[in-house]
Order: sequence, then C-alpha cells, then structure tokens
Amino acid sequence: MSELNLILLGPPGAGKGTQAERLTQDFPLAYIATGDMLRQAVAEGTELGLKAKQFMDAGDLVPDEVIIGVALERVEADDARDGFLLDGFPRTIAQAEALEQEMEQLGRGITAVLLIDVPDEEIVRRVSGRRVSRSGRVYHVDFDPPKHEGRCDIDGSPLTQRDDDRPEVVRARLAKYHDVTAPLVRYYEDRGLLRRFDGTRTPTEVHDHIRATVATLRLEDSL
Ligand code: AMP
Repeated sequence: MSELNLILLGPPGAGKGTQAERLTQDFPLAYIATGDMLRQAVAEGTELGLKAKQFMDAGDLVPDEVIIGVALERVEADDARDGFLLDGFPRTIAQAEALEQEMEQLGRGITAVLLIDVPDEEIVRRVSGRRVSRSGRVYHVDFDPPKHEGRCDIDGSPLTQRDDDRPEVVRARLAKYHDVTAPLVRYYEDRGLLRRFDGTRTPTEVHDHIRATVATLRLEDSL
C-alpha cells in the first residue's frame, strides 16, 4: 500500500486540530503541526522559539526562512516515511513550493489537500471562546465547557486563553489567512489535489466526510 501524505488547510479555528486527532486514529499518519512545534519552542525558550515569539504574539506568520527548514526536516523524519498529516503548513505559496520540491527530490508526492471551509464570523466566535489547560486539553466556553468553570476536568489546572486566540489577534490571523494562505486553495486546485469540506457541520459530520474521502484515496492509490 502506498503512503498517504495529506495537508489540512483552512482558517485558524476551522477545526483542523480536532480533525487531525481523529484522522491519526483512523490512518497511520505522522501528525506534523507547525503551530504546536512553535509553541513548544517558545515554551522551552529555544533559538527557534525566540525567533518565532514576536510574530506569533502579533498574529503574524513566522518568516518562511525560519519555518520551512523546520517543517521539511520533520516531513523527512523516519516516523513520517509511511505517510503524514500536515496541519498549519504550508501557509504561503513559497512554503508550498518548497514542500513540493522536497517531495519531488524524495520521490514522494502529496496525496490530497483537505480544505475545511468556515466563514470568518463563525471563526471569531469559536476561537475567542477557546481555552486550554496545562496538559493541552482544549475547551470552549460555550460549546465544550469544563465541569467547573476555568478548571481542567482532567488535572484541575487553570484554563487559559492562548495569546494568539484573543479577538484582536484572531482578526489579524484571519486577515493574514485571506492574504497569504487562501491563494493555496487555487494552487492545489490547479494540481488536482484539493478536496473541500464544510467546516460549519458538527465535528463528527466533518470527520465522517473526511474519513470517507481519505479511505477512497487510499483504495485508489493501492490499485
Ligand atoms: P496555529 O496553531 O497553526 O494556528 O499556529 C500558531 C501560530 O504559529 C501562527 O499564527 C503563526 O504565527 C505560527 N505558524 C504556524 N505555522 C506556521 C507556518 N507554516 N508559517 C508561518 N507561521 C506559522
């Protein structure tokens, strides 16, 4: 069976992380989330973290020359050899071109790009209500509240809002998405790789649709 190399595309707050969690249970995919990698680097105070923090806090993208090397190194790692799921990368045409070149050199290819579509107003509502616990469990003040307000159900740690989930930062991230990331929709459409999903449906419905699509792709690939 050939490998599945997938990209999740969509605005911040479209539910990419939730879908990724489910998809990696359905299929043997290495999960590569550049946002998570960067947040970890910031928390650990590494050189990468120091370079990235100011951009992230402002809702800006980290420069291509900082992120491309880090992401591609991860794609080449052993655990991603049988397939990967990229979340949050590529986010610019330059990143997409770098990935395409790298895949060609490795004799591999992208299987499909899964676009989760959600309108802006819905994104602002969703993201500004998002809260995270120390262990990384994600809640939403309206849609998925903890049992006790402000405390994690699992470890009781106080819930906090990610700096980049504040409403003014969310709006900046959305503007950035439309400016520099949305052109990737056309880029991948032109290559016949784009698959669209309605991200306003429930997480389970979105997951069912994506899983069915990926299962078909895998079948077609193995024929
Ligand atoms: P995310 O969790 O994917 O929304 O990413 C959080 C933040 O990390 C973004 O707002 C960017 O500042 C930064 N980031 C993550 N992935 C990338 C990327 N591929 N290119 C540039 N910046 C990124």
